[in-house]
Amino acid sequence: MVTCRDDPCGFVCIIITYCAVLYADYVVVNWLIIPSSMSSSLWGAFHALIFNTIVLCLTVAHFRAVLSDPGIVPLPTAAIDFSDVRTGQPMKSRIDRVSGQSWTVCQKCEAYRPPRAHHCRICRRCVRKMDHHCPWINNCVGEFNQKYFIQFLFYVGMASLYSIIVLIIAWSGECPSCKDMDEKNARIAHSIVLVVISLLFGLFVAAIGCDQISAIFEDETLVEQVKNRGHQRTATQRTKMDLLREVFGNGPMWYWMIPCRSTQYRRFIPPSFNV
Ligand SMILES: [Zn+2]
Ligand SMILES: [Zn+2]
Repeated sequence: MVTCRDDPCGFVCIIITYCAVLYADYVVVNWLIIPSSMSSSLWGAFHALIFNTIVLCLTVAHFRAVLSDPGIVPLPTAAIDFSDVRTGQPMKSRIDRVSGQSWTVCQKCEAYRPPRAHHCRICRRCVRKMDHHCPWINNCVGEFNQKYFIQFLFYVGMASLYSIIVLIIAWSGECPSCKDMDEKNARIAHSIVLVVISLLFGLFVAAIGCDQISAIFEDETLVEQVKNRGHQRTATQRTKMDLLREVFGNGPMWYWMIPCRSTQYRRFIPPSFNV
């Protein structure tokens, strides 16, 4: 299912992301690789190819994170009497006969939701294993798209790191076209902006990536961390590999960062309640 939120903040963040990525690509190729001595050898083509491959993977992962269904809980097809919810009385949770799990009522959606689903104010729906709503993908990060979100963070980090590496190589070698002072000054200005963008985005995604990995290992989403703050919680008994496979799928580990492979969505099982 393709989804898209009408959140202005989300649209602005997506435009900023693509402007930064396109600008970084322009500077790396036109102001660092082409004017330097790298362009006279195969090294120039090699660095341009690697950087553009990272940018391509970043774009595919981003598109998938933006357009994928994060795990929106369907609204009931049959009419359910939620009058208790409207009058403020909490309705009892119901046990799903199939999974044996306890489903609760979302007062805003007026629908039953599975354990670990949370309501997102911006999406205005409950999302399975909701982690947080991210304006940079204009979507929730949930059970079905967390993999693409982490891939996006990974490739932004890679692009930031690789642009700094190309910059160091370019400035440590000869620059035949830098005899013109205007050219040289423009190259310096673009390089400074590139360093600032790379550091800002690189450190930002590194911090969010660490949060994501620690949330996976704790088996507790960011929303749950906030809700459970101050409460005693029993540590998960599952292994770190099991928890990672739940997000990245059961394929080999080198597949985990490939954005072209679609996640095997676990089928949504309609609840069969013990009333
Ligand atoms: Zn809801
Ligand atoms: Zn959301």
